[in-house]
Amino acid sequence: HRFFVWSISRRNYTTDVEYRPIRSVLVANRGEIAIRVFRACTELGIRSVAIYSEQDKMHMHRQKADESYLVGKGLPPVQAYLNIPEVIRIAKENNVDAVHPGYGFLSERSDFAQACIDAGLRFIGPSPKVVQQMGDKVAARQAAIDAGVAVVPGTPGPVTTPEEAMEFCLKHGLPVIFKAAFGGGGRGMRVVRKMEEVQEMFERASSEAKAAFGNGAMFIEKFIERPRHIEVQLMGDKAGNVVHLYERDCSVQRRHQKVVEIAPAPKLDVKVRDRITGQAVNLARHVGYENAGTVEFLSDESGNFYFIEVNARLQVEHTVTEEITGIDLVQTQIRVAEGMTLPEMGLTQDKINPQGYAIQCRVTTEDPAKNFQPDTGRIEVFRSGEGMGIRLDGASAFAGAIISPYYDSLLVKVIAHAGDLQASAAKMNRALREFRVRGVKTNIPFLLNVLENQKFLSGTLDTYFIDEHPQLFH
Ligand code: ADP
Repeated sequence: HRFFVWSISRRNYTTDVEYRPIRSVLVANRGEIAIRVFRACTELGIRSVAIYSEQDKMHMHRQKADESYLVGKGLPPVQAYLNIPEVIRIAKENNVDAVHPGYGFLSERSDFAQACIDAGLRFIGPSPKVVQQMGDKVAARQAAIDAGVAVVPGTPGPVTTPEEAMEFCLKHGLPVIFKAAFGGGGRGMRVVRKMEEVQEMFERASSEAKAAFGNGAMFIEKFIERPRHIEVQLMGDKAGNVVHLYERDCSVQRRHQKVVEIAPAPKLDVKVRDRITGQAVNLARHVGYENAGTVEFLSDESGNFYFIEVNARLQVEHTVTEEITGIDLVQTQIRVAEGMTLPEMGLTQDKINPQGYAIQCRVTTEDPAKNFQPDTGRIEVFRSGEGMGIRLDGASAFAGAIISPYYDSLLVKVIAHAGDLQASAAKMNRALREFRVRGVKTNIPFLLNVLENQKFLSGTLDTYFIDEHPQLFH
């Protein structure tokens, strides 16, 4: 069933879409995802171009590209990668054809996608219009409703006063969740269960959002109890074809941030799977979605599910989908951006057949004994877990690497693939035990506790799992 793609010449297939080969790609990102994209480029015979901040002068992602250029001289570490005019200038000066944004940084900025196109570069992602629409929670929700997708009851737009918040709560009942309208990454959320707390909690959440994101506007949604986080991987082409690559379960979260991801979702009723993937495809078709994207849903105990958001980009956990489908999502993204259609690549829905279960653990340089405080310094000793069915996607995972405080603490993504969830967990467990990391602390002890937990192994997961198992922290 595996797809081994595509140093291919074009097949005899007629389409209106113009095919323009990409000869070079600049990755507007750093770390493991930059390397992930360079690898796909190299395999396709495409020249790869890195950018790096001053703080990343010695970083591995720089070495893994064919060429690398300093970006954002004199700027703070994160700002360097957010400097749109400079990224475009570097691309133009070095004869680059296309830009891949990775995840985070500029990946969900429609002004960046547009700036690339205006400069004659191809943006490896959806159109700026769709990036904009999906990034705006109100517009994305409306698109979902228009496409017949079930959404969580919520405020139709941002709410700025405690009176509006109270009105929603009285109308829809508790519990509700407050979300920063301009937040993201699981930050700025608060669950409210008592009417007498609505006012005070709103004021607190809103002022926190203002401090963190520069805007105090909030969304309010009905809070789904014990939800599972299930998300559908999509791929669309320029001819309007859309396929789904099945779903992932990302319920294992700490503070609303994903820690362990699984594909496909264990114990998901086949009828629910069909409906959830079908609705995701409908939404993509409805908005004219091109390239890779993910539709996120929460499902409740009765099998109802509700749209929460679309991530109009590649995700950290795309790897587990690649493992079960055998499809290289990044190569597919590049081919789509060239104008190749999914059928030309052999990617029709009937040919996508997931096999087994894949699990991804995000190994971070965080100390579980110190409330996951990020640790920094030089890695003195590094040995990784390897062997059949194990994949490692990392950037700083080697002896001598300096873990800086400037960027996120992801050290290496470990992905296991085996026939069923338990076999996959056993493989992951074995691989994580082979790791030896000295010099910086990692969350591996915590991950091992998760992998040995009976509830985890039974595959009956919800987003309360980590909070309800404090023994995982020891
Ligand atoms: P972000 O954009 O910050 O990543 P999301 O809307 O994707 O935020 O939500 C992240 C996580 O927060 C979800 O996976 C879920 O665990 C929790 N969550 C969000 N909305 C709700 C809700 N209405 N009810 C219950 N949990 C929610």
